[in-house]
Amino acid sequence: MFSRPKRFVPSGFRGFAQNANDGLQTPSRLSGKQKASRNGATTQRKRESVKGMEIENAIIRLEQVPDALIEISATDLHGLFPQPALIHLGGDQPEPLFVSVLLHGNESSGLAVVQTLLKTYASKPWPRAVSFLFGNVQAAREGLRRLDGQPDFNRIWPGTELGASPETRWAQKVYADMAARGVFASIDIHNNTGRNPHYSCVERLDGQSLNLGVLFDRLVIYSPYPKGTQTGAFKQVCPSVTLECGSPGEASGVEHAVEFIEKCLRLPEIPCQPPAAEDIDLFHALAQVLVRDEVSFSYDYPAADLLLRPQLDELNFTELTPGTLLGKTKPGSPPTPLPLIARTDDGRDVAGDYFRIENNQLVLTQGSMLCMLSMDERIIRQDCLCYLMERITEFSTSHVN
Ligand SMILES: [Zn+2]
Repeated sequence: MFSRPKRFVPSGFRGFAQNANDGLQTPSRLSGKQKASRNGATTQRKRESVKGMEIENAIIRLEQVPDALIEISATDLHGLFPQPALIHLGGDQPEPLFVSVLLHGNESSGLAVVQTLLKTYASKPWPRAVSFLFGNVQAAREGLRRLDGQPDFNRIWPGTELGASPETRWAQKVYADMAARGVFASIDIHNNTGRNPHYSCVERLDGQSLNLGVLFDRLVIYSPYPKGTQTGAFKQVCPSVTLECGSPGEASGVEHAVEFIEKCLRLPEIPCQPPAAEDIDLFHALAQVLVRDEVSFSYDYPAADLLLRPQLDELNFTELTPGTLLGKTKPGSPPTPLPLIARTDDGRDVAGDYFRIENNQLVLTQGSMLCMLSMDERIIRQDCLCYLMERITEFSTSHVN
């Protein structure tokens, strides 16, 4: 059983100086200290000007905070920002910390994190400039990850495998804007379904990315797949992490992320020396596990092709033994040998190495660890069932890229 270890803050962060942004353009200082808009007129004008616009033109760029943003719910946010919005706020250090929230519309913790920070800094200067991106506001309205017909807003960033679309062009513009500002670091805030500890995901194994990850929690996942994530794009220009803050609505996830961002805002630089091996639990998400499109599945409908094990999410981050039961298959179906696909970083299907059907039972063939097992059937179909994990122990020498 993997138990969530004690929180850890690497001592190297205190006063450690490195050239975190070598090679990046340093923009001139942005607008002065944040001031809340008192009359809402700016917001009103912005709201009218973007009505009906294609998303690719819909970077609502503000340098003030609309009053209504401070308390608004994720489901009502579309009333303030009918399209994704980007807010730039000046701070003592000019290179901005980029924080994106609601790329998945049902993952509301990020909005609460931003609101907490806006209250904290309403009447005092930010230690560092910040840029807040509010992503899929239309899916947030419905409480959904994405709307039918929309691409996943965390698969559309530069490096995506998706074809060009208004959404990919919009993401490219946001990326270019932040790169031109000399972005200091990038933080993308998410929730997941199912029981999971808090952890971060990185898409590079360099010292800066790992130090940023471990500043949130000692549990860090290296996950270079799927392509087109915000973190995967920003790794090209700055240290970048995805935060997984538990289930939406949990106060502990919001508090944890706020505490982390406060630390980031005060960092003069991010150390390049990787954290010591004993200070990090680092795993590689070696394959994304999906249910085949043609296979029906359920947690509670016995006639489905694949009846998943009840409380499957209890197995998250657990060292599982060969033979562990994951579900039952209907006799005579599905027609394919396995109901699952396990897709590696380079697109291979390794499901046959990890799963087999034995007397109509879906079991593990070898000792494995799974994470992000979801109990939400819609999320499983839209995203995945889980990830297959392996521990990385030699990261400081063999995995740095
Ligand atoms: Zn998400």
